[in-house]
Amino acid sequence: MTVAEIFPLALRREGDGLRIEWNDGVVTFVRWQTLRENCPCASCVEERQRPPNPLRVLSPQEVAAGAPQPQGMTPVGRYAYQIVWNDGHATGIYTLERLRHLGQIVSSSTPQAATPPEPE
Ligand SMILES: [Zn+2]
Repeated sequence: MTVAEIFPLALRREGDGLRIEWNDGVVTFVRWQTLRENCPCASCVEERQRPPNPLRVLSPQEVAAGAPQPQGMTPVGRYAYQIVWNDGHATGIYTLERLRHLGQIVSSSTPQAATPPEPE
């Protein structure tokens, strides 16, 4: 099964993160904090590539918003989700591949219909 054939069967908010059941039988969990810190949009990528500023701790928006929480999660085509964050940031498009990669595998089982049924 290639990455392109892996897609979520169910996405569910659980505790402080997102639980995803994938069609290959794997269940992953990723914290919102991790997703927010790995925002793939151009300005966040640029921000992460800059040398760290030792004086910067949190922006005023981050302080006001508190811990990262999604306010919305919208499918983008069949390959990605756009997440709207409680700090107002909404330009990050998270591909399924990224969601899968960032998640920690909490369980995995043999996918159903992985092998064609034997002829009777
Ligand atoms: Zn971003």
